[in-house]
Amino acid sequence: MSARTLLCVPITAETTEAAILDMYKAEEVADMVELRLDYIHDLDLGRLLGHKALPVIATCRPVSEGGRFAGDQSSRLRLLQDAVGLGADFVDIELEAWADFKARGKSKRIVSYHNLTETPANLDSIVKSLRSTDAHIIKIATTATSILDNLVIFDLLQKSKRAMIALCMGEDGLISRVLAPKFGSFLTFAALSEGKESAPGQLPAAELKSLYRFNEINKKTEIYGVIGNPIAHSMSPAIHNAAFGHLGLNKVYLPFRVDDVVAFVEAFKAVEVKGYSVTIPHKENVIAALDEVDELAQKIGAVNTVVEKRARLIGSNTDSSAAIFSLEQALGESPEGVVLSGKRVVVLGAGGAARAIAFGLRQCGAKTTILNRTVKRAKRLAEEVGAQWGPLSDASKVEMDILVNATSVGMYPEVDETPVDKEVFRPGLVVFDMIYNPLEARLLREAKDAGCKCVSGLDMFVEQAKEQFELWTGKKAPTDLMRQIVLERLGER
Ligand code: NAP
Repeated sequence: MSARTLLCVPITAETTEAAILDMYKAEEVADMVELRLDYIHDLDLGRLLGHKALPVIATCRPVSEGGRFAGDQSSRLRLLQDAVGLGADFVDIELEAWADFKARGKSKRIVSYHNLTETPANLDSIVKSLRSTDAHIIKIATTATSILDNLVIFDLLQKSKRAMIALCMGEDGLISRVLAPKFGSFLTFAALSEGKESAPGQLPAAELKSLYRFNEINKKTEIYGVIGNPIAHSMSPAIHNAAFGHLGLNKVYLPFRVDDVVAFVEAFKAVEVKGYSVTIPHKENVIAALDEVDELAQKIGAVNTVVEKRARLIGSNTDSSAAIFSLEQALGESPEGVVLSGKRVVVLGAGGAARAIAFGLRQCGAKTTILNRTVKRAKRLAEEVGAQWGPLSDASKVEMDILVNATSVGMYPEVDETPVDKEVFRPGLVVFDMIYNPLEARLLREAKDAGCKCVSGLDMFVEQAKEQFELWTGKKAPTDLMRQIVLERLGER
């Protein structure tokens, strides 16, 4: 079995010349290539293999297994046989064709099974059939219809005594591709560049290496990640992986697209996840899955951070302290919260973010008013934190020193929406918009024009991530790096 999981780039070019070019390009990012012979219209196998620079897997996938080869089985197997004769290092034969493939040469034989719709319940019996062959390597590529399917794949890899390639395709299978070295897959597939994928869910090789630090993942790598839905565009993997890398920590941070958060947390105990960030829509529901929740998070009723300590999962809320930190920074005075004591603060919104800052403001002794579109939610929160309450339209009637937008109004892509009329703004008013994408939505633009002191959600976002990082690692977070990454992702510098 290979000591290190190899990175294999599928060559999906449609002509022999383009495939040769891509093979050379792959040298920069990959350990080996998979020649998808079924993609090439004018296949010149001798010429193609004559340009072999990296170890090669010869594959000619039929349409029935997600490939493009529409000819008959015997001509397909003859092609693969020729590839063996021409020096392909590996040859991939589907389980259903195994008995018909007679060629024996120097190439190592991979027996493969693909499922383009699901990770089937009878996978064990399929694995048994794969094992009954004399293949050097067993390959299983199923489709994840849920994040939980990855656990089936990890289990297979850990138990396999023969070299195995196992992965889940699709968005929900991304983690099986990244964690291939942790669970001992012979290789993982990654695209040469965006648009050159051979299967759904393949990341570009450069991203796998730079974002997820693929080359540094090994059996001891500790798993962290963000639970949410949707999650594909979360900036948290970029921030936390860069921070782990900066400190040389053997940890990786993944996106988990989760439907049922309690079932997910329970099931993923099997792979000993060390910490989670939790985002929309799971901040409240995750509580039921935890062993302990700190007092503040309990009062807020929302957890955005989970830390594993001695097999116990402990929840806390770093949004609250991060929001207060941001405000105090903007006010530029004492970090002890004295600065907010007695200040008249209007919070727009009564959702998770509003609850987080409202409890923080109460601890600081601020005089808070909660205004929300759904007034009964404003009333409920106000009663919990000893605040005033009302509809959003009251904003122009309430005297205030600070206005906080904790609604999602103005968030990308609705950047020209605003939760309040600009008549509420006056010079000197501090306006804090928790939104960080964009850095300046309409609310802040209008507040700035009126001479207000403006604070975007960027500082809060970086601070809550910093606090999470420090809870997980006990080390000082590289906040400048984290901020720089958010700005880069937002297209700003
Ligand atoms: P949430 O729990 O879904 O709450 C959304 C809030 O926005 C509710 O008060 C909702 O009012 C209000 N709202 C939504 N659409 C509205 C509309 N069209 N008109 C008026 N009010 C509307 O979300 P959340 O977790 O609190 O997040 C709120 C915002 O804070 C998001 O933009 C999020 O990105 C941001 N946030 C930023 C950070 C950071 O680190 N900077 C951290 C957490 C959250 P109803 O009660 O009437 O539905």
